[in-house]
Amino acid sequence: MDKAIKAYNSILELVGNTPLIKLNKIAEPLTGNFYAKVEAFNPGHSSKDRIAAHIIAEAERKGILKPGNTIIETTSGNTGFSLAMISIVKGYKCILAVSSKSSSDKIDMLRSMGAKVYVCPAHVSADDPRSYYQVAKRLHEETEGSIYINQYFNELNIDAHYRSTGPEIWEQTSGKITHLVACSGTGGTISGIARYLKEQNPEIKILGVDAYGSVLKKYHETGEFDNNEIYPYRIEGLGKNLIPDATDFEAIDRYVKVTDAESAHMARKLAHTEGMFLGYTSGAAMQALYQLNNEGEFSKDSNVVVVFPDHGSRYLSKVYSTEWMENQGFFDAQNAEQPERVEFIK
Ligand code: PMP
Repeated sequence: MDKAIKAYNSILELVGNTPLIKLNKIAEPLTGNFYAKVEAFNPGHSSKDRIAAHIIAEAERKGILKPGNTIIETTSGNTGFSLAMISIVKGYKCILAVSSKSSSDKIDMLRSMGAKVYVCPAHVSADDPRSYYQVAKRLHEETEGSIYINQYFNELNIDAHYRSTGPEIWEQTSGKITHLVACSGTGGTISGIARYLKEQNPEIKILGVDAYGSVLKKYHETGEFDNNEIYPYRIEGLGKNLIPDATDFEAIDRYVKVTDAESAHMARKLAHTEGMFLGYTSGAAMQALYQLNNEGEFSKDSNVVVVFPDHGSRYLSKVYSTEWMENQGFFDAQNAEQPERVEFIK
């Protein structure tokens, strides 16, 4: 930074160093102390800024990526937004293959950031030529001077969180953290943080959040990849229909599964109680805290850190749309919260 003018040199200097924020009202029914690592404070509004910045910096350092080259990735939206943001600032082209499950808000945001977007069917197997993995692979082969980020199978995904998110949480809790709760998609976030924290104190419990419809929890418990576990679900960015290399299953103590409906309601509750307008998986992680609490996982001295991955602006047409919630059947007897109606003055 310039000594006289207190300005950052570019938006990229703001990646990482996100705040840890105490959870108050929403944590009242829970036993222990609860703190949220709010990744929406990254300039690209998600934890994915960290891996995008790290993977690109490493490719530049190794001389693989040169000005004018193309960055290609498969993404549920967040990694794409981070890559597109960095590409704009650094002068790269950006091509993204996204799942048709991604919200239209997310896709519009990627296009606004100058990325070329391919929307691929969500409910096909990973080896289907139409899947976003296969489409990205093909585009990489066809595009000269391109790099494929491959976040699901890239060790640097774990490394980014091992070097930044893990040490930040250790520092912010002065080493007093007892439990980490984080969503598992590629697994980079939970695995990188887990590796760092376990090196500092092997007693810290690492709890992963998975979705019903995903294979991760069963694979962790049995070592078996069970196709029968797979069915469509709504939460974006959490759980998987394959086993990612970027997940270090040994560093994770246990998984808990959450439902689409409960996670959506919990995201809305975070806004209503804490003033935190966050993404669908933040609701999922919060829902996991309630379930783990009910199973007696925490005691009054527990210092639990939960990672909230992204911002609510990406879900305006989903979790924060009353119509969408109604269409999903999420306002049912079990989740009795009824939406606040808008009053039109005539
Ligand atoms: N939440 C959201 C919104 C995401 O996009 C992702 C990434 N797929 C995750 C959670 C999970 O993070 P990770 O990939 O590091 O496991």
